[in-house]
Amino acid sequence: MRDTKAAFDRRTHKKKTRRVAAVLERVLGVPEQQHPLPEPLELLIATILSQNTNDKNSHRAYSLLRQRYPTWEHVAAAPLRSLIATIKPGGMARQKSLRIKEVLQTFKSRYGGYDLSDLATKTNEQVISELTGLNGVGVKTASCVLLFSLGRDIFPVDTHVHRVCGRLGLAPGCKTPDQTFKVMQGLVPPRKGYSFHTNLIRFGRKICRANHPACNRCPLYDECLYENKTRLARQSRSRSNTNHDFMLLDHVKDLDSSH
Ligand code: SF4
Repeated sequence: MRDTKAAFDRRTHKKKTRRVAAVLERVLGVPEQQHPLPEPLELLIATILSQNTNDKNSHRAYSLLRQRYPTWEHVAAAPLRSLIATIKPGGMARQKSLRIKEVLQTFKSRYGGYDLSDLATKTNEQVISELTGLNGVGVKTASCVLLFSLGRDIFPVDTHVHRVCGRLGLAPGCKTPDQTFKVMQGLVPPRKGYSFHTNLIRFGRKICRANHPACNRCPLYDECLYENKTRLARQSRSRSNTNHDFMLLDHVKDLDSSH
């Protein structure tokens, strides 16, 4: 009986995930993946630099790093103080410099260098297990390497994605992004990992925000199970006193111009 119910829930959640992904593609478009794909190590270092800061500062820190040190050998050999000064615009420069050095050192002793192209020959599970063995690299970062760098059809889950999946009721009962990650891998439609992940991040940043989600202009309002959505939608609607369709289209324009 329990197995039958589990199978039914899974089918229901799969269908709902497909509908949600389709709505987001209709509203936000189908995002194009970057080509050529970045090297795994580039992505790992960029991810370390992106922690606890905004996109603008982390891009700046990454550009400065690559300008000053043209190869990973140069970064590995750089004095810690110089490295800290270089990536300062990204914040937490000392902690991030130490982590970058540690990651480079581990790869050097593990592979004899910084060429991680061998990862392309491994399964998703093997890559996740290998990368999460590094200090400071979690499942989210490892799955981002798989998606953005190795071009695998996988669905990384960060805090935005975890929050939105929870509110929509796609991954009920999941308390952490890693739990949501496990559940969602079986629900996301084939070949939609990149599009759904990217659109959910944009949606989570701009509409289904952690605080003050814009429920009054949400294209997923009917799919959402968030208990406060009606109250929040009413509050925002009475504040803005603005037509729902106009707000939605207006916001989509904002989203498009921000990418
Ligand atoms: S209705 Fe509100 S809580 Fe639900 S998905 Fe939309 S913005 Fe998020």
